[in-house]
Amino acid sequence: MEQTIVVIGSGAGGLPAATAIAEKGYQVILIERGPAVGPSQSKINQYNFETASLPWPTAESEWSGSHALQRALGLGGSTLRYQAVTHTLSVAVLEKWGLNVRSINKTIQTTKDFLKIAGHKTPHHALNSLSTRLLESAHRLGWKASAVEAAILSKPHEGRPACNKCGMCVFGCLPNDKTTTANSWLVRAKKTGRLKILTNTQVLKLNLKDSKTVESLDIIRNERPEKIKADAVVVSAGALETPFLLKNSKQTFAPDGIGNKNVGRYLADTRVQNHFVIGDKMIEDAHAGIPIDLVVKEFESEGILLYQGRNLGGIVGPVSLAKLYSVHEGPERTLTWMKNNYKRIGIIASMMESGGNRNDIVDTRKKRFSITTKEGDSQNEVATKMLLKKWTKAAGFKSLWDEVTHHSSLSGAMLRGACRIGNNEKIHSVDPNGKLYGYNNIFVSDASILNQGLIAHPSFILQVLGYHIGQSLGATLRA
Ligand SMILES: Cc1cc2nc3c(=O)[nH]c(=O)nc-3n(C[C@H](O)[C@H](O)[C@H](O)COP(=O)(O)OP(=O)(O)OC[C@H]3O[C@@H](n4cnc5c(N)ncnc54)[C@H](O)[C@@H]3O)c2cc1C
Repeated sequence: MEQTIVVIGSGAGGLPAATAIAEKGYQVILIERGPAVGPSQSKINQYNFETASLPWPTAESEWSGSHALQRALGLGGSTLRYQAVTHTLSVAVLEKWGLNVRSINKTIQTTKDFLKIAGHKTPHHALNSLSTRLLESAHRLGWKASAVEAAILSKPHEGRPACNKCGMCVFGCLPNDKTTTANSWLVRAKKTGRLKILTNTQVLKLNLKDSKTVESLDIIRNERPEKIKADAVVVSAGALETPFLLKNSKQTFAPDGIGNKNVGRYLADTRVQNHFVIGDKMIEDAHAGIPIDLVVKEFESEGILLYQGRNLGGIVGPVSLAKLYSVHEGPERTLTWMKNNYKRIGIIASMMESGGNRNDIVDTRKKRFSITTKEGDSQNEVATKMLLKKWTKAAGFKSLWDEVTHHSSLSGAMLRGACRIGNNEKIHSVDPNGKLYGYNNIFVSDASILNQGLIAHPSFILQVLGYHIGQSLGATLRA
């Protein structure tokens, strides 16, 4: 009889794993808590898109923590909402994670080919004049800077158009040019004929038949509890939900829940510092383009990436910008100010990785998470503030609102860690093939496996690792 593998969650880590497993000949049941959301459900063609609610239930308030959580629940997971910036890892980081560098680098190339990443073999997205000026000034400073690689089509592909530069990716992409796991991996997985999808279905518990082997899952589907059998399980519920699900699967064979003592620890995120800049009247098209379009990698080895992006700092259109502005100037001047200035604003930002130490935890008893600051964070922030100011000056822009621009926050969108990958069971939760240490047939493939060393933008490397975990699952099960 064919074996059935259950994959929990359809985001960046889950769907590539499900695809690889189905392509290997296994039956796959993909369980997704959220609904199937098509591009037509996006509201960005309505005049009030900016104030309308997002097209999927956010369920963000379920979690409380040191900062607000940002995610999406639905077929495609948080890729429905992300800004599609594509970042890869250096050889040194891959080695530190115990991964086979040659094999992962090969998967990086084939995944970029498959997703038609703009800037890989198809052109980068053209920069508008504000970004061009920032790029040129970064080069004048002697910095390594370039247009970002992005999972947003720059050429039409399989019935999907090239990007129209509206920049509204976080509301869901109406034209369907932004690549999500739903319009890429899901299409491919369905072609195998071995994928069954259960949407609006939540997994509540993994059930063990002995201390090392899962045999079934408790789920809630159409508001009714059910039990389904599984020969193996890939947990891809996201950086917070995965440790929550494992640790709340308490039972005779696992009185403290499933997983070793590292599950739920070493949570990390990206620290973002935004800096608003304003150009002269000549920069008419400053609002148009992909959400984040420019990266400076000069300081990557020091743990800092600099970006330009009009959606950074939560600015997704004139209303959100004006809301922030009115805090300082009073609402009466807001409309005039919006008309005069919206098109001249740019946002440059620095991104750094947070500590990810043992005390950065997912509290699985009460859906809380906490991230501490590490020694040197404030010095780093001062250093990056200087870099952002230097960049602004070199481009001939002015800084806006010093008190706002210098705020620094954790992103809440790029949470990771808590089930870290690596070849040392003492400090890691899953082995380099994603198998949970101490268990025969439980795998993890989502942002929770990411170890330290990734400054920002985890989604691409998650898809690479998801595909790798899915591909090696058969051999790992037999070993
Ligand atoms: C606004 C925003 C912008 C971003 N921009 C970028 C970017 O530009 N570049 C980048 O690389 N990354 C970006 N990210 C981050 C990126 O989207 C995430 O890191 C990535 O999608 C995480 O993948 P995941 O598989 O861990 O989790 P998710 O993609 O969140 O998938 C988890 C899935 O599991 C489902 N699930 C959870 N619990 C259960 C359960 N018990 N039963 C069944 N299903 C369950 C959820 O519904 C969800 O669909 C952004 C994120 C946000 C929110």
